[in-house]
This record gives sequence, C-alpha cells and structure tokens, in this order.
Amino acid sequence: MREQKITFGEMRESGVSRVIVFCSDYRCSHSTALPADRWPDHVRLSDIEPQFVCKACGKRGADVRPDYQGAKRPASVNRRAQL
Ligand SMILES: [Zn+2]
Repeated sequence: MREQKITFGEMRESGVSRVIVFCSDYRCSHSTALPADRWPDHVRLSDIEPQFVCKACGKRGADVRPDYQGAKRPASVNRRAQL
C-alpha cells in the first residue's frame, strides 16, 4: 500500500517551493532537488513518483519529499516494500 502524501498546494501553503526526489533504491541513495512550480496544486507528491527514473542506477520510481530547509529527517523512515 502506498503512503499518501500531501499535495503540491498543501506543500506550497507551508512555504516550501521545492521537492527533493530520492532514488527508491536505498543502496543507491541518489537524490536531486527540483522546483515544484511545474506541478499543479491538486497533484500529490506520491502521484509523480512513478514518473522518475534514476539517473545514477536506472531504477524506475522515486521517493518525493518536500524540501523543508533545515528540517531533520524523520527518526523512523518507513520504506515501502518493492514487489
Ligand atoms: Zn538510483
């Protein structure tokens, strides 16, 4: 089951204008920051995850998170199982 994430509109309301896209393979851990202005407000961050292909390892799918500046990573990261 996929984690439900916030929408771009909700993210922008909290003052965040960029997302960080992480490779879904934790062994790769490639990440890149992107401006979020290309996605409309009703789109969820989780909706765009399947569209990414990692430039480093070629894996399809990603983990998209708001770029909260200075925010710490959550203590427990709940990783999805891959089927
Ligand atoms: Zn990768």
